[in-house]
Amino acid sequence: MKILLAGGAGYIGSHTAVSLLGKGHEVVVVDNYDNSSPESIKRVEQLTGKSVALYEADVKDKVRVLKIMQKEQPDCIIHFAGLKAVGESVQQPIRYYRNNIDTTLTLLECMEQTGCKEIVFSSSATVYGSENPSPCHEGMPKGSCTNPYGWTKSMMEQILQDASVADKELSVVLLRYFNPIGAHESGRIGEDPQGIPNNLMPYVSQVAVGKREKLTIFGGDYDTPDGTCLRDYIHVMDLAEGHVSAVEFCAHHHGTEIINLGTGQPYSVLDIVNTFQKVNDVKVPYEIGPRRAGDLPAVYSDAHKAERVLGWKAKRNLADMCRDSWNWQKNNPNGYKR
Ligand code: NAD
Ligand code: UDP
Repeated sequence: MKILLAGGAGYIGSHTAVSLLGKGHEVVVVDNYDNSSPESIKRVEQLTGKSVALYEADVKDKVRVLKIMQKEQPDCIIHFAGLKAVGESVQQPIRYYRNNIDTTLTLLECMEQTGCKEIVFSSSATVYGSENPSPCHEGMPKGSCTNPYGWTKSMMEQILQDASVADKELSVVLLRYFNPIGAHESGRIGEDPQGIPNNLMPYVSQVAVGKREKLTIFGGDYDTPDGTCLRDYIHVMDLAEGHVSAVEFCAHHHGTEIINLGTGQPYSVLDIVNTFQKVNDVKVPYEIGPRRAGDLPAVYSDAHKAERVLGWKAKRNLADMCRDSWNWQKNNPNGYKR
């Protein structure tokens, strides 16, 4: 199949490109490098020995996207293109709504005009909101989000679902990711945040490599076994392989399917720090600080549906995630050197 990855030069998109190419699919990437670099795709090509059709374009630009789709005629789209920093979305809600919603509408309009009927969407566990207790399963109603980023995901899910009600030939898979971490085992591609990382694993890696002095753990007094928050961390290569299964499923399906991509196994912030130190034999100095506003004590998935519907299950463990994150960080202390 030929798959168009909107936002494919980013962290999850570049790893998914490796998995798709490895399974014999063709890959087209459209990205404006708002939060990435074409270097990631160059490395994907080196790793796989295959070429990627790469377009620098804004996915909100309908004229450009339509031309690309008319030329490439993809069988399926994976929509990764979005802004994803929770704190920034609170400061810049209009930019977030404009970018995230508009990219989705543009892709749907271009699909309508070119006859492409399959789309896989990068959603997030954040749409379960604070009302749903973990483990979160797909049958639960969506909850209230605590920030504009989360609301864009919730709204985009609704838009895609409505589109599939109106067009019975449309096949939509909404993938709700839990906490992707890790990197390709080669250490050649990985997560490359700009500025101070918001997420735990890039922060831990940057402390270990000496770019930051110490990690602040946000809260040590939660009602959890060690007092720190629990999350469902998933290796980005497992996540990438989940996309290959989703794309293949999409081809034989109509309507909307919601699927969690997680391991179902919660780990605490201290589990991450301790495992990272142990498997990599490095020090990660930390202190326990105040809670971060909006953080929930425990968020993890019920991962059974993905196994039942997609035949996919995460295979890599926490040690693999910590080892591969470090392998990427230590070999690329400045990321892709933008
Ligand atoms: P990322 O920032 O590395 O990748 C997103 C890519 O989209 C970037 O390459 C960026 O340049 C591109 N992009 C953004 N707006 C664009 C536009 N208008 N036109 C063209 N390209 C555009 O992020 P990621 O971690 O790879 O996440 C991919 C998707 O998964 C995002 O939609 C994100 O919200 C979602 N998601 C990520 C996580 C996570 O923890 N990483 C969790 C849940 C959901
Ligand atoms: N966290 C932390 N220090 C940091 C970054 C994150 O203690 O510098 C914690 C955060 O409170 C949460 C977990 O690590 O419990 C995962 O946070 P992240 O932002 O990576 O993902 P989230 O689940 O919040 O989307």
